Amino acid sequence: LELPIHDAVLGEAPTYGDTEALIDGVTGATLTYAQLDTAHRRIAAALAASGLGKGDVLALHSPNTLAFPAVFHAATRTGAAVTTVHPLSTPEEFAKQLRDSGASWVVTVSPLLDVARAAAELAGGVREILVCDEADGHRSVLELAASTAPEPHVDLDPARDLAVLPYSSGTTGVPKGVMLTHRNIATNLAQLHPSMPLGQGERILAVLPFFHIYGLTALVNAPLRHGATVVVLPRFDLDTFLAAIEQHRITALYVAPPIVLALAKHPKVDAYDLSSVKLVLSAAAPLDAELAAACARRLGLPAVIQAYGMTELSPGTHLVPLDEQHPPPGTVGKLIAGTEMRIVSLDEPGRDLGPGERGEIVIRGPQVMKGYLGRPEATADMIDADGWLHTGDIGRVDAEGWLFVVDRVKELIKYKGFQVAPAELEALLLTHPGVADAAVIGVYDEDGNEIPKAFVVRQEREREQEQEIGVEEITAYVAERVAPHKKIRRVEFVESVPRAISGKILRRELRDRESARTKGTEDQE
Ligand code: ATP
Ligand code: MG
Repeated sequence: LELPIHDAVLGEAPTYGDTEALIDGVTGATLTYAQLDTAHRRIAAALAASGLGKGDVLALHSPNTLAFPAVFHAATRTGAAVTTVHPLSTPEEFAKQLRDSGASWVVTVSPLLDVARAAAELAGGVREILVCDEADGHRSVLELAASTAPEPHVDLDPARDLAVLPYSSGTTGVPKGVMLTHRNIATNLAQLHPSMPLGQGERILAVLPFFHIYGLTALVNAPLRHGATVVVLPRFDLDTFLAAIEQHRITALYVAPPIVLALAKHPKVDAYDLSSVKLVLSAAAPLDAELAAACARRLGLPAVIQAYGMTELSPGTHLVPLDEQHPPPGTVGKLIAGTEMRIVSLDEPGRDLGPGERGEIVIRGPQVMKGYLGRPEATADMIDADGWLHTGDIGRVDAEGWLFVVDRVKELIKYKGFQVAPAELEALLLTHPGVADAAVIGVYDEDGNEIPKAFVVRQEREREQEQEIGVEEITAYVAERVAPHKKIRRVEFVESVPRAISGKILRRELRDRESARTKGTEDQE
């Protein structure tokens, strides 16, 4: 029997009863499984009574809160799809998503109400704005949770009907609405389960955002499906994060590379008792193997493991199985059950590559999205006639089936016909003790050739007399370790590298800066 997502996730909630489902890591407020079950059903009833149902889209605009999972599953229970909105969106960005998704309902929190109102005004078509907490003139989901309306019974087709409409991160272009059905996300949860140590007694710290498909899966749906306890933090702050691990005896951390970096390098980490942590999993962006090893050593774990996925894949296809204590350094894992993968040539489309060869990662399986909302051409570019999704990521698989992600196809630098992967150079730069952070992009030299340029953040040296590293040292360090075509040919020292919360480098910002500068010099000429 195939279940819609709210039943797949909360179907067992009544049996977990008084177990804490969610704990607010700041206020200490809690919600038991029994309360979560009742609350989401009553909210669903009230929303359905005011007209929300199949074919509608509800925009959920909220940081991580205890109410988020209840509102999410209440909405899908009415038959509606949920489009999750970045809580730091500007009114313009939010309005764009409202228009693109056709959302007619908004649920927000009072501190974000002005943004939500402005967005709704710009977009038009919003019937009601509700709040999770309290605000004058708006219905609160707290009020709805006391509803006595009859529970909706909706006929859902899990293979066709949309459950979530998340937007891709927009790293390489405009964020696109990704149509994920109930089947897409419910199947992926089941596929990922064998590699997640979930169950009653597990305590997960939730600091990555719920609105992103990684957070929604690893921090909301997967743990709540199995009776684990989720400790919720609204934003990342190292002290609060470390204190919450110690106080709540957190057992598993699902994080992104910037948090692994902090755990590996920050002096504060030693001041806390983190001995309860048994698992650290990183995903969403490239993680340097040495950094992962340093983090694992510090926490006394055999390894920091990785997973790989994308919004269009609901989101996962690879992770490190739990019984693998010592996966090869740098791997993002093995292919999960019920999924097919090919590595295909970038030069000769359609040619399959063998172990060790680098090519595009191509995936087929029940977690492949239905398509991009309202963008048939973009969908056809991504999913071919045989159902294979072309990820746009370059990878290689070793003889044992471990996948290594090299970089994105779109980020490759073409130096005199050779392909250079910026992620590889960035990982190498980070191994230099004088480098705190680095990003590499392709820029054009005087002759119009694309060359690799590094943006480097210097490590703050502890002893003042020590010399800061210079351009020469950077270029020489890389040149000694790579083939000649991969040499860094330009270096700029910067205060910071622009990154998304997931650790993804915002290369577009660097490119824009670069082209603004080139334009500036042309104007002078
Ligand atoms: P857009 O498609 O709008 O440009 P995006 O691809 O950044 O945005 P997401 O779906 O959030 O949006 O990110 C998926 C991408 O994240 C993957 O295609 C891959 O490039 C990267 N990624 C995910 N997990 C890993 C990992 N473990 N190692 C390296 N890269 C990863
Ligand atoms: Mg993408």
